[in-house]
Amino acid sequence: MSNLKDFIEKKMSMSHIYQPVMIKTLLENGGITDKKTIAKNILSYDFSQIEYYEGITNNMVGHVLRKNEVVLKDKNNYKLKLFEDLSSTEVPELIALCDEKINEYIKKRGAKIWEHRRRNRKAVPGSTRYQVLKRADGRCELCGISKEEKALEVDHIIPKNNGGEDSIDNYQALCFSCNANKRDTDDTDFRNLSVKYQARKPDCIFCNISRKIIAENELSIAFYDKYPVTLKHVLIVPKRHCNDYFELSQPEINAMIRLTHILKEKLKTQDKNISGFNIGFNSGEDAGQTVFHCHMHLIPRRKGDVENPIGGVRNLIPGKGDYK
Ligand code: AMP
Ligand code: ZN
Repeated sequence: MSNLKDFIEKKMSMSHIYQPVMIKTLLENGGITDKKTIAKNILSYDFSQIEYYEGITNNMVGHVLRKNEVVLKDKNNYKLKLFEDLSSTEVPELIALCDEKINEYIKKRGAKIWEHRRRNRKAVPGSTRYQVLKRADGRCELCGISKEEKALEVDHIIPKNNGGEDSIDNYQALCFSCNANKRDTDDTDFRNLSVKYQARKPDCIFCNISRKIIAENELSIAFYDKYPVTLKHVLIVPKRHCNDYFELSQPEINAMIRLTHILKEKLKTQDKNISGFNIGFNSGEDAGQTVFHCHMHLIPRRKGDVENPIGGVRNLIPGKGDYK
């Protein structure tokens, strides 16, 4: 007793809850148990998993059972309709029937029914996972929640089995809820996702750009503007054809922003006189957009390139740059 107590109290150096959970499980099982039982007990503490299945409960099963008028929902509770009418023998009978259905299904489909969960977890190597989470600053790249509040997963933007690459550019950090929402869509939607990102318009100059690509990632490319406002004026565009900023998906916005960071370094290394940038989108003809394939201008600025730079993009309405 004293040895174990001493270990738990003083020696156990914890990097997670695993050690006390394992010891507790062994204590509760007469000192010996299989790894599955230990794993199940660890799982019972993992709220991110619970949250994932809460999502499934609400969005999938709950939805179907409510539609079929089997259950009612009241805030966080589900209620079986007509439960009060069931006799004490009918309840265990119905439970047995559910068990029968569960076992029948598992027997028929085998381990395949959990394959969608397994695939995602195994696919990403630890070091890449770390890089992706670091790049996302420990936050979900869709909803912005921090990893302290919700477990983050590393997700393929374009699914692997639909041609998505295993490169860091095709990964994003998603919280459990955002990833669950994405994963709950079926295979057809996944296929649609890769089809969506392949969209190109035959007569669009940016879909068929003939200029040298100076930077690229999974969803976006960059090239020098043909009619530069200043030297090394760059355009960053999504690979997919879409008209303007408001049609971009969040992964595309992320990809384009990432390219601006890479290009900023690149341009500043090439030209030491660059001391600032104007970055922007024109959206709509009235706002001055002339090419209707979404693009972000990255315009290098240098000291003295105009007489009075005050206001920057505010100067798109002449005379309004300086607001004082
Ligand atoms: P916007 O006015 O915001 O639609 O910007 C369109 C930008 O595309 C302008 O800065 C043009 O100089 C640039 N541009 C037009 N044609 C080409 C081209 N073939 N290659 C590269 N840039 C171009
Ligand atoms: Zn296009």
